[in-house]
Formats: sequence, structure tokens, C-alpha cells
Amino acid sequence: MGKIYIIDVTNRDGVQTAKLGLSKLEKTMINLYLNEMGVFQSEFGFPTTHHEKYYLAANLELSRTGVLQPIRLEGWMRAIAEDVETCFKQVPDIKHLNLSISTSDQMITGKFLGKKGKRDIVNMMVEAVDAARAHGAETVGVNAEDGSRTSLDFLLEFGLAAREHGADRLRYCDTLGYDSPFTIYETAKALAENVGLPIEIHCHGDLGMAVANSVAGAKGVIDGGQDAYINTTVNGIGERAGNADLVAVLLALTKAKGIGGQYQLGCEMDLSKSWRIARFASYAFGVPIPINQPGVGANAFAHASGIHADGVLKDPENYELYSFEELGRGEPEFVETGREICTGRYGGISGFRHVMGEIMGEEALRFHDAEEAERVLELVRYANVLAQKPLVEDELLFIAKYPDIAQKLLTMTPLDY
Ligand SMILES: [Zn+2]
Repeated sequence: MGKIYIIDVTNRDGVQTAKLGLSKLEKTMINLYLNEMGVFQSEFGFPTTHHEKYYLAANLELSRTGVLQPIRLEGWMRAIAEDVETCFKQVPDIKHLNLSISTSDQMITGKFLGKKGKRDIVNMMVEAVDAARAHGAETVGVNAEDGSRTSLDFLLEFGLAAREHGADRLRYCDTLGYDSPFTIYETAKALAENVGLPIEIHCHGDLGMAVANSVAGAKGVIDGGQDAYINTTVNGIGERAGNADLVAVLLALTKAKGIGGQYQLGCEMDLSKSWRIARFASYAFGVPIPINQPGVGANAFAHASGIHADGVLKDPENYELYSFEELGRGEPEFVETGREICTGRYGGISGFRHVMGEIMGEEALRFHDAEEAERVLELVRYANVLAQKPLVEDELLFIAKYPDIAQKLLTMTPLDY
């Protein structure tokens, strides 16, 4: 029986969201948290976008040196050979790619405006796959954008052509959140059976069904005899109504009636990191976690009504499907209500030493010399300027631990023109 893997796309689809964004250090932190959680792959960015260049290279370096292991880092681009060429010019060490092109009649007529037909779409995609292979890409996923408004016949033709040219996976994108669990199950099963490749399921929440569709789609893929890959984002942040939420998908896969215990995850996942990654993403994006968010919302384990409170006190399982401890909740969190020393863009060395001392204890005194402490502080200043908000402890620790990598992340050399 096939297994289910998670590919998180926060650092691609999430940051594409209107009015939101992440600094390069914040994107790196997301990759680190995803790795700690056991996520199979992070779609870590845009290799054809100039300002991503140093960030992508620095994260690949973290991968090479074992810091970002075993997670795979994969870059997203359009499925055209020109983008693949630009990608390998900008980020020569990249190993995993996803190549995306629209496949629906709506997009072919409404976006390509009659300049491209279905044949052209398939040709552009296979040329891009060939180019990726020629450059030594280790894995290539091919994305059918707007797949849910594409005829099954054309999806099969597209998927089979991708497979013939050596693609490793087909991503079925419900780009507009148009599917229901019933339709996506059937389509995903048919794709798995007839294309003969593992299938990725990429869902959006325009009709409120992103998580349900992801799980139903994955079930279809497995029943069709292939491994399934679900695309998620942290807190469901994504374009318009968002993507399938990472924690909710994991809860559904492990706890839902008829799903939990029936299907196997391809990677061992550590749900107890849920609270930390959800909180960080909320802070970094500047978007509060909804009070009723599964697992990580403020009310996910709150009980007020007499009957429920009485019931949960007698036995939590009366009114809770899973425990807060499983998600890494329950530790007290302190808020400073008195004097507070901060560090940041205009900070000096003594404030910085104080802050690092609070976080690291004795370790903070282990900066080799004043010069090293000064260098880390300088990096912290730059990171603060780029993020436009105070850095969290994990970010400060990361910079102190990997100053060379941090320096690369903070490098924004304007264009190679
Ligand atoms: Zn999307």
C-alpha cells in the first residue's frame, strides 16, 4: 500500500499571498521547523527570482552540512525550459524542482489567449523536464495548474508525457478550490491508476474544503496504487482563502474516522512541534491564529459550558479527540511586564549581550571575543531591518550559531544586470 508524504509550500504559495511576506531569515526558520517536524519536502522558494538567490543557496548549504536534513528543498518555477535554464544559472546546486503550467481550457483560452494550444502546453512542459534532467535534477515534479477544471483525458495525456520524459511526480492542483472530496477522490485515483506516477494533491480553501479534499485526494491516490503527496502551508496561509493547513492535515491523517491508523505516513512526523511552528508563522506573517483553528487555536482545548466542562474534567476524551500535549502545548509562556531590554537595528553591544545572556545563559559568554559578538550583533541589526519586527529567540540563536549562513541570508545584492 502506498504511503502519504507532506510537501509544505509555505515558502512558495504562502509567501505569494497578497499583502503578506516573509524575510529570508523567516523563510529559513520555517524550513528548520518543518525539518524538525519530519516534513518530507519544503517548496523553499523561487529559483528564478533574483532576490531569492542568496537565500536559496544558503539553505542548500544548510542541507549539505546536515543542518537541514533529512528534509528535501525544492524550487518552484514555470514549466518552460527558459525558467529551468535561469534556475540552474542562479542556483546551480539545486537538486529538486517542481515545474508548473496551466492545463485547463479556461486558462488556455483565458490566460494564453489562444496563442497556445494543448499540444504547446505538453511540449513546453516536456522541454522543461528535459532541461531539468539535462542539468542533473534529482527529482522533477510536474504541476497541472487548474487541474480541477481540466478534462481527465488531457490530465492523463499531460501526466503520461511527463512520465515518459522522466518526471518523478505529477501535481494535481485544485488551484481555485473547486473540487469536493468526492470529485478529487475519483480524479486522483484515476490519475494514479493510469499515469503510473506518485501524485501530489494541491488544494485551496475557496469552498472551505482544502483539508478534506487533500485527505480524500490522497486516499484516491493510494487506492489507485501510488504514493500520495499532500501540499500544505503553515496555518493554511495561502492565496485568497488559503491552502490546506499543515497541522489540520496531519491531525486528519492520524485521527480521523476511517483514516487514522488506516493509512501510513511516509515520514515519521513529530506533532509536538505543531504549536511552535504555528506560533512562529503567525508572528512572522503578522496574521493571528484564528481562535477556532484545529489544534493550535486558542479555543482548541477550551471548555466553558457546564456539560462539556464537567465531562472533560471527568475524562478529557469525553470532549477532546486528542490532547494538547501531543501538539506541544501546555508549557507556561512568560510575558515580560516589567523592564525589558531589546536588541535590534539601533541596538548596542551591552543590550545585545544582556538579551543573548537571557536566552543562552552561560553560552552567551562563549563568543570568542568582542569582535565575534559585534559581528553577530551587526547581523541581528540587519535581520531586524529586513523583518521590520523584533527577532524571536530561535532567530537570535540561529544567527549566533550560523553567522556565515546568516550573512548570506541577509545579502540582497541588486540584480546581476
Ligand atoms: Zn496554490
